[in-house]
Amino acid sequence: MKNRHLTDEEIQQYVLDWGTCNKELLAHISQCEHCQQQAAQYQLLFASIEKQEKATFDFELADLVMEQITQPAPVPDNRAVVYAMLAIVAAMVGVMAYLFGNSTASLFAFMQPLLIGLLIVTAFGLVGFLGLDMYQKYKTQMKALNFS
Ligand SMILES: [Zn+2]
Repeated sequence: MKNRHLTDEEIQQYVLDWGTCNKELLAHISQCEHCQQQAAQYQLLFASIEKQEKATFDFELADLVMEQITQPAPVPDNRAVVYAMLAIVAAMVGVMAYLFGNSTASLFAFMQPLLIGLLIVTAFGLVGFLGLDMYQKYKTQMKALNFS
């Protein structure tokens, strides 16, 4: 027999599942009135905890939450526009090929310096526009950081 009383953990282990307790522990509790009383108290406690009703809301939580959640605005689908533009470009190329026939290649050869110039202007314009946009975004973000 153990010469000290059981700890709370040991008594809980005994109450919940005495099969897992070691023999020494079982021997003590079978002869010790104090520990038996403790075990009885824990048994009562566990029984009353099990009897407690599970906490429930008296309102429908899911509905309340769903009301708070606003549907995100649907992202506009740009694919139709892109396909339409591609179709238009294809049609224009087709019309041009039909009208100019074999001279299409020489037409482009003649236009090459112009095309290169246009490409350069477009590229610079894009880079400038994107850089300005990025800078403005950065400025507004810095403002939001500093003054809010
Ligand atoms: Zn004891």
